Amino acid sequence: MRFETTCIHGGYQPDATGSVTVPIYVSTAFAHPEVGQSTGYDYSRSQNPTREQLEKTLAALEEGCDALAFTSGMAAIACVLELFKPGDHIIYSADLYGGSIRLFNEISQKNGISFSALDTGDLHAVKAAIQTQTKAIYIETPSNPTMQITDIKSLCELAHKYHLLVIVDNTFLTPYFQKPLTLGADIVIHSGTKYLAGHNDVLAGFIITAHKEQADRLHFLHKTIGACLSPFDCWIVSRGLKTLPLRMDRHAASALRIAKWLSKQPKIRKVYYPGLVSSPRQEINSKQTTGFGGMISFEVDSEDTAIQLLKQLKLILFAESLGGTESLITYPLLQTHCDIPKEECAAKGINERLLRLSVGLENVNDLIADLKQGLR
Ligand SMILES: *Cc1c(COP(=O)(O)O)cnc(C)c1O
Repeated sequence: MRFETTCIHGGYQPDATGSVTVPIYVSTAFAHPEVGQSTGYDYSRSQNPTREQLEKTLAALEEGCDALAFTSGMAAIACVLELFKPGDHIIYSADLYGGSIRLFNEISQKNGISFSALDTGDLHAVKAAIQTQTKAIYIETPSNPTMQITDIKSLCELAHKYHLLVIVDNTFLTPYFQKPLTLGADIVIHSGTKYLAGHNDVLAGFIITAHKEQADRLHFLHKTIGACLSPFDCWIVSRGLKTLPLRMDRHAASALRIAKWLSKQPKIRKVYYPGLVSSPRQEINSKQTTGFGGMISFEVDSEDTAIQLLKQLKLILFAESLGGTESLITYPLLQTHCDIPKEECAAKGINERLLRLSVGLENVNDLIADLKQGLR
């Protein structure tokens, strides 16, 4: 089955009723035919038919061996961190989703895990940071919000020499544009809230793993912790997934148009979009992706321009998410990265002039017209 077909049919075969879409099984318990027997389902936290179908689809799309559906992206990331124990050390991309950094700093460190943040695209820096207790490298590529690129394949080759796990948060590109497991990564994470579901109407998270043994451990953690995605929410994500390829193509085409347009505006100082030829590590990125995605960050000429733009935009909503049908703009310094120390943010280029735009599925000319009137 090719990608588009898997998005629609996934792990689902019509049941006895002939239902062409996956039924929503709300039952929390499943009756056993006899002592010592099971239909394959016992209690919904362990497994549920609606969730199972979605998980199988995700595993197939990322070309992994198994997948698990969580109540949010953060729940998935928190579960992955349960693979580690006190004393372990993890290296991560310095430019990372703010919520992940908050989890590392505020919860994982308290549990005895230590971290080093660096540019994971710089393999010399990564190598220098590996300690005897290092267990994993956790990356985003392109990263959030400054679109830094890490060469996944080369990083995996280095990491595996030291028996480190490579964990990739693939939220920004989705498996439609980038498949980290095929490049050697061990675990892929998603905020399914974003492009996978795609309509700004459900929270969800996923872990997809390349290894059977790890999948067993993660299933154990998943059912033990219990942050399992509800059957109804699974169904919403399943429905969103059916149009993932169509949506991603449109998000990316519109984003490229807008990135090029922004680059020419007098009040714009800098545009971060991996599809621009001037973009750093463009060559590496083109090797490992089949598209550039729908996220753009840009720096305007002053804090005042940023605030005015947010106030004047009419169609593009000032809201804190991404990957949906509606275009949303965020102010990373005050929103996604509000818990990260100011100096740390500044060093990464996250300042009072930086804005992040999630290009939605509206007509691109309407979006450009909105930005134009907002930047007047
Ligand atoms: C939103 C996001 C998360 C967190 O996911 P939630 O579904 O909001 O919990 C993690 N990583 C990235 C890159 C994100 O954009």
